[in-house]
Amino acid sequence: MKHKADFLVIGSGSAGLIFALKVAAQGNVIILSKSTMEDTATSYAQGGIAAVTYSPDNYEKHIEDTLKAGAGINDKEIVRITITESTERIKELIEWGTHFDKEKSGKYALAREGGHSEFRILHHKDNTGFEIQRALSEKVKAHPNIEILENYFAIDLITQHHFNEEVNRYRKDIRCFGAYAMNEKAGNVETFLAKVTVIATGGLGNIYQTTTNPLFATGDGLALAYRAKAHLDNLEFVQFHPTSLYNPGEKPSFLITEALRGAGAVLKTRKGNVFMKKYHELGSLAPRDIVARAIDNEMKLSGDDFVFLDARQISKNEILNHFPTIYAKCLSIGIDITKEMIPVVPAAHYSCGGINSDKEGRTTIQSLYAIGEVARTGLHGANRLASNSLLEAAVFSHRAAMHAIGVFRQNDFRENVPNWDAEGRVLNEEMILITQSKKELQAIMSSYVGIVRSNLRLKRALDRLEILYKETEDLYDKSIISKDICELRNMINVAYLVIKMAMNRKESVGLHYSIDYPEKKKK
Ligand SMILES: Cc1cc2nc3c(=O)[nH]c(=O)nc-3n(C[C@H](O)[C@H](O)[C@H](O)COP(=O)(O)OP(=O)(O)OC[C@H]3O[C@@H](n4cnc5c(N)ncnc54)[C@H](O)[C@@H]3O)c2cc1C
Repeated sequence: MKHKADFLVIGSGSAGLIFALKVAAQGNVIILSKSTMEDTATSYAQGGIAAVTYSPDNYEKHIEDTLKAGAGINDKEIVRITITESTERIKELIEWGTHFDKEKSGKYALAREGGHSEFRILHHKDNTGFEIQRALSEKVKAHPNIEILENYFAIDLITQHHFNEEVNRYRKDIRCFGAYAMNEKAGNVETFLAKVTVIATGGLGNIYQTTTNPLFATGDGLALAYRAKAHLDNLEFVQFHPTSLYNPGEKPSFLITEALRGAGAVLKTRKGNVFMKKYHELGSLAPRDIVARAIDNEMKLSGDDFVFLDARQISKNEILNHFPTIYAKCLSIGIDITKEMIPVVPAAHYSCGGINSDKEGRTTIQSLYAIGEVARTGLHGANRLASNSLLEAAVFSHRAAMHAIGVFRQNDFRENVPNWDAEGRVLNEEMILITQSKKELQAIMSSYVGIVRSNLRLKRALDRLEILYKETEDLYDKSIISKDICELRNMINVAYLVIKMAMNRKESVGLHYSIDYPEKKKK
């Protein structure tokens, strides 16, 4: 089956939906979602969205905080664009129906999170992302020019490669003509021809054993782009959220927002000792990488599986008003956070790197854009400042949309794209082979490519991955295509890139810490 879209958007999180809403008046839009429309990392975001709204905050302060968190590896122009356009993009989200909490005076209630020098996080209780996703989804569903296809899994981008031309990473004229995607319910692969294709597939958290990311976050968009020969960068900078709820076996790990520390919660060892001041003057409100490494170190020193977050000094009223989801979740596993401390561990949370995209969201492949978490715009540098990611998605979806409106008019559909080639695939492989390889991959990444790295650990990870890679490629070539085998293949592909980029960075900076190169390189 062949579909045609002026704009093909892969992903239904905030990035994909904002893009769709912005271009839909110009042409028809198809949005693919590998799960349901609302099953996105956007829906999980708790803390909020950072933006400059009132004095004493100003753009310069937000820019400075972002550069400081990113250890100067940020792209300064991109940082300035993002922050100075934040106010406009927030207004738009509000116009589209997003509710942010307000004070009695009518002003927006602003929270402060780690690494921010001012109160600037707009939020909706502790489920801001859910609220943003709700508002955007309603708008998108009501739009006559937007078609949403749920449970459609994008497998590969279509480029000149599918016309038997040689395509390599040095070629400057690679063009994207759309994508192949599997209709999971029907079990067949369909062709999507597009004048403009947008990757908005979110993160990669599931290459690790413990992650706050939803189960779908297997780095598909990164792998798709890499196979199509796009350029990717900075994937060594994986952010581990310091405080996910310690609840063995639960997937994804439940996040305890940084805003709880902003409201006064303090990290303590299992014995009840406050420890963060040893590592940073901001104590429990230090930047995430420092907090995550400190927790990792304390756990290694004590041999404990977790540390505690003590929120008992926050009033019950404030907990119930601002953190109802966290309160209810902890209570559901027998912890009343107004009376007991919360056991927490770090979990893979956010990918600062991704598909290289410029200030208009363009990748190195023509007619292909990358927006949201899957993109590497240069905003985050070596570490993401809390709550800057929803903002990045909003700013670059807007910019990409404005640019793509100009581009799609100049493009025609590439009509003679071949159908998906399923020849030679006969095996209906046992799931156990796939699930076991997935577990092995996650163990490799968590053991050797986690918060603290070394040359030896990375080499070991690469050697182990090589075996999984060969086995999986062999299986893939023979198997009837399924989402599971494609995901595994993508995860191996993305893990390879994380390891290689970590090996190439011979210094410790931001989220990448190597015991062999403990210092940041001098420029
Ligand atoms: C628990 C948690 C809390 C967070 N809290 C905050 C916060 O407070 N503030 C903040 O700024 N950021 C926060 N983040 C990060 C932020 O939520 C994400 O970076 C952001 O929402 C990403 O949006 P996105 O549109 O790029 O991707 P997502 O919202 O993740 O959407 C990805 C979409 O891509 C689709 N997809 C993926 N692969 C395929 C495929 N192969 N085929 C078809 N579709 C595919 C998925 O189905 C989904 O629809 C948090 C993240 C998590 C996990």
